Amino acid sequence: MVQQRADVESLPAYIQGKSLPDAVKLSSNENPYPPLASVLEATRARLERFNLYPDMGAVAVRERIAARHGVRPEEVAVGAGSVEVAAQLITASAGAGDEVIFAWRSFEAYPILVQVAGATPVPVPLTADERHDLDAMAAAVTPRTRLIFVCTPNNPTGTVVRTDELERFLAAVPKDVLVVIDEAYVHFDTDPDSADGVDFFRRHENVAVLHTFSKAYGLAGLRIGYAIASERVAGNLRRVAVPFGVSDLAQAAAIASLEAEHELNERVERIIAERDRVHEALRAADWKLVDSFANFVWLRTGSRTPEIDAALREAGVVARAYGSEGLRVTIGSPEMNDRFLAAIAGVSPTA
Ligand SMILES: *Cc1c(COP(=O)(O)O)cnc(C)c1O
Repeated sequence: MVQQRADVESLPAYIQGKSLPDAVKLSSNENPYPPLASVLEATRARLERFNLYPDMGAVAVRERIAARHGVRPEEVAVGAGSVEVAAQLITASAGAGDEVIFAWRSFEAYPILVQVAGATPVPVPLTADERHDLDAMAAAVTPRTRLIFVCTPNNPTGTVVRTDELERFLAAVPKDVLVVIDEAYVHFDTDPDSADGVDFFRRHENVAVLHTFSKAYGLAGLRIGYAIASERVAGNLRRVAVPFGVSDLAQAAAIASLEAEHELNERVERIIAERDRVHEALRAADWKLVDSFANFVWLRTGSRTPEIDAALREAGVVARAYGSEGLRVTIGSPEMNDRFLAAIAGVSPTA
């Protein structure tokens, strides 16, 4: 047998949100709306060039992203989805024996990507109210810590990290440890006290921000996300990136999406309104839940998770189940959300 890294063969697989025929898929936090006409048009115009490699430096899209956030293009690095940029951040920061801290439960890719890099994941449990325990995360820092992920709003709980908390956290973390603020769901965050990642990046040399075009912008299938980081870190991300990882279509669609932000924001507003409607309906039915500031809601269903997940499927709704912890349900179109509310009406909130 060929030799393979033993640790790779024991890695947990990343689980994609399931789909079932005739069921509504609320398991991957996708945008329920189809691509905008202007974005489709921009990609169509590029279709006839896919015999050519894309711009490896992604110069045009990095310039647009930089202008959008008031940073320099040298401070922007792109990847095939922000999950690839997260992998670049880990690879550039941590190797064998180094530690990467993140809240748990949070984005399920973190522990996998850390182990792929040969580094050691350090998960720190969420608080009882489903929030990052930043004091415990700061206390988990050791001389081997190289990177810390802060996911806000957090996937899968939807809770946010406040400005004052993050300020205190950064004061406690050594300046040579990179703190990555993963803002995949930032467009859905309506909490006025939430930390603003790019603002923290401007004030702290050791902060990087992760954004994606997959969720609010609806480009999940095209794969493009980015980091805003110091020029040095962003340069290192480009060094460790897989060459030509971001396709020409993805780059064109991202530029067109930035130009269509007003139109996209209307959709985001509709999703936010639906999220609040779903929250209210669940609370009216006696479900206890924390406020989610993302495009999903979180039900801490504990040991009943598999049973409730099965009941939802039976009623034609596919949510994302996490073992015996809970269910994450993506906010879709009003019709999809009605399907979910009808399905959950058949489930008692208490055992
Ligand atoms: C969805 C998600 C991402 C990134 O998704 P990409 O499609 O790879 O850009 C990153 N972080 C979190 C927390 C997410 O939920």
